[in-house]
Parts: sequence; C-alpha cells; structure tokens
Amino acid sequence: MKCNSMKVSAMSAVFVAAVGASTAARGEGRVDWCATDTMPTKASPIAGAGTCPLQGECDIPSVRDSWIPDGSKQPILIRMKFNVFANDDGSDPVATQAEVDAQLAHLNEDFAPFGFQFTGETEFINSTEYRFFSPGEEVAMKTQYADTPNAKLNVFVVVNSAGWSKGTFPWNPIALTALGGIIMADGHFGPNMSIMAHETGHNLGLWHTHHGVSEVGPCSACYETADGTNGDTTGDYAADTAATPVNVNCSGPGGVDGCSGVAWGDTVWQNYMGYASQDCYTEFSPQQSGRIHCWFDAVLSSWNADCNGNGVIDVEEIADGTGEDCNDDGVLDECQGDFDLDGIYDPCDPDIDNDGVLNEVDVCIYTPVGVVVDPDGSPRSDGDDDCDVDIEDYRFFRTCMSGSGPGVPASPSVCLDWFDYDRDTDLDLRDYHEILGSFTGPLNDGP
Ligand SMILES: [Zn+2]
Repeated sequence: MKCNSMKVSAMSAVFVAAVGASTAARGEGRVDWCATDTMPTKASPIAGAGTCPLQGECDIPSVRDSWIPDGSKQPILIRMKFNVFANDDGSDPVATQAEVDAQLAHLNEDFAPFGFQFTGETEFINSTEYRFFSPGEEVAMKTQYADTPNAKLNVFVVVNSAGWSKGTFPWNPIALTALGGIIMADGHFGPNMSIMAHETGHNLGLWHTHHGVSEVGPCSACYETADGTNGDTTGDYAADTAATPVNVNCSGPGGVDGCSGVAWGDTVWQNYMGYASQDCYTEFSPQQSGRIHCWFDAVLSSWNADCNGNGVIDVEEIADGTGEDCNDDGVLDECQGDFDLDGIYDPCDPDIDNDGVLNEVDVCIYTPVGVVVDPDGSPRSDGDDDCDVDIEDYRFFRTCMSGSGPGVPASPSVCLDWFDYDRDTDLDLRDYHEILGSFTGPLNDGP
C-alpha cells in the first residue's frame, strides 16, 4: 500500500475535494516517499559565505541569479532513458509505453515554464527480480542496466518494496555514472504524475524546500530560519522558497520556528520540491530556476539532446547523416570538444593533446598543446606525476637548481630527467625558461 499512496492520493483528489476533507486526508503522515540524499555528497565542499558549506559555484547567490532564465532562450532539451522493468517473461511491465509517454508529456508540461524539456526513449527490461525492487539492489540494478549515463538521464521504473523514489544531485560524484539517475516507484509514475518533476528537480540541483529546517541540525550552520535573514546561504540556497518544516499539506505549516522565534507564515507549499500532495504542485521558484540552469551548465550538459542548439535533436542529425558520431555514442562529435584544435573531434582523435604520444599509451591525454612531454606523454617537468606543471613542480625545480648552475651538473639524476630540457647535464637559465614555458598550472583530467 505504501508505494501506491501518492497515486491513490492523486486519483482520489476529486473525491477528496468533493467531500471537503482537504489536506488532512492527503498523504497524511507520509514524509518518506522521497529517498534523495539529505546530506551533502561532495567530498570537498567549498567554504560558504557564512559557515554552511557550498557544493559548487551555483550555490553562490549572484551566480545562481545570473542563470535565472528570462524566457528569451529556447528550452534545453534533456535526453532521458526510461528503463521499465517487467517480469522475466515480459509480462506486466511496471508501466506501459502509453503510460511512459503520458508521464513524459506531463513532465514536459511541468518544466515548460522553467526552460527545460525532455526527450525520452524507453526500454522494457525483463527481470522479475528488479521489477520487484528492494533498496539493497540499487547498485547491482543500476550497474547492470544504466544506459550511457553520461549522455542520458536514466530513469528506472520499478515496484519499490520501500515505497520511495529518489534522484541524484549533480554535485554527487556519481551523477553522470551508472549509479546516478532516478528511481521511480510505480505508485509515483504515470499519467498526470508530478513526483517525476520533484525527483528530476533533485537531479538538476534542487534540495527540498524543507531542507534547511527538517534535514539539517536544529539551529545549525545550514539551518534556514523563518525570519528570512539567511535564505540565500542556508537550506536549499534559494531565498525565494521560504523556510518551512516538512509539510505534506497544500497550505502553510502553521506554528513557529523555534530557532528564530518567528512564525513560519507564508511558505511555498505549492513548490515541486516540497512534500505537499502533488495535486497542488505548480511551480519552481525563480531562484530554483537559476540553480537548475547553472548546475546543468556546470555538470550535466552532456545530457543535452540538441547539443549544438540548432533545433534538431542530435540523434536525428546522426541518423540522417548531417551530423557525425564517430564513436556511436549518440552524441554529436562536434559537441565533445577538440582539445588540441586540430580539426579532429576528441571522441575520435587518436592523439587528443597532439603531443605525439597516442592516447592509448599517453598517461596524460590532456596536456596543454606545446608543453614538452616525455615518451609516456606526461609533461617533462611533472615531478609529482599529476599531469600538470604547477607550483609543486616548480618547488622541485628550485630544489634541483640549488647546487647546480651553468657547467655544474645537477643531482640527483631525476633532476636532469625532469628539468634538463637541453640535456647538457646542468640546470641553467635555458632550463629555467623552459619550465616557465611549460607551466600549466593545476589541471584536472580534461575539459
Ligand atoms: Zn525529494
């Protein structure tokens, strides 16, 4: 029964309204239908303006606000993959194609005012085991069935014995891996259902509207107070979604915030990211819209189904031959970068950084063009083997320099391996200029 409560709630909404038994009858006491993380998942959050840590630049109010859409741009189209489970013999899929199509249409209605649309493909997977999913099977199921998760937002449609659905935050390191995506419980999925908008909101970077009250320590650094003084820097990092405790009703929670002594007052119970019954869901806030556009651009842009923005879905361009997809991943090559600007897009460039060392044997495939490399493709002066030449390597150089000079051999021998560019056994001004010219600064593992 648990897993069907939201669908039952939606289907009975008309009846409930007719008898006038409004909020108390809907989802009463039901606050566990979403199992999305309630704790930050990034290993190294950045310091917040106050003391509540940030998961990325999109948590900074001025950055967030710069992404609030003004309606002038065409919507971003996200590639979605519905993995719908059925019994081993193919019978009784958790949703029919018609139900998937209706859910997708409804999701698009929900997101239309906020600059996102979704295009879906469906695969019916015969597995009685995962059709009747239990939480302990999440990793195994996703690992086996996720479909190119860096290019598609995977949705797993199951009967969940625990009753919940869940999304994956973009700042979670697993967001673009098989372990990301969305799990939708059967009672939450289908025609006219908006739980999907809620879970997708998580994937695009939204916390619950009650996060700052009910999912952090009481009066702690990330606690969002009812007096509205810290809405930008705590809780869900959106000041235009007022602080609220968990609220399953389509009306304000009532009561007083014990941390500020102020009444909760007007809250956004109609917001998709709250826990109110979905028949009163109507909106994301402007600042939430800014967050989802910012996080999409920062982390998720490989899900863009029309990556070159020409109005034609990439798979159609690939199918009709107007776009190239040399590695058959369903994404236009032109959207996957040309790191060395040699005219060969990275998915099929055998030497991405054009250092003369083929990718298959290059330990650093994104070395900036022009930096001198060793036979293994690592920058010559990369003493600490992290594929960059930065201040750490410069410190090695300074150590090697001491005791050497024009005509005076440097030791130990690694000093010569790393820094003696002209191979004349000393470290002198010529080598100094070379390491400065090879200075890349700290790099990550690619664009
Ligand atoms: Zn949720």
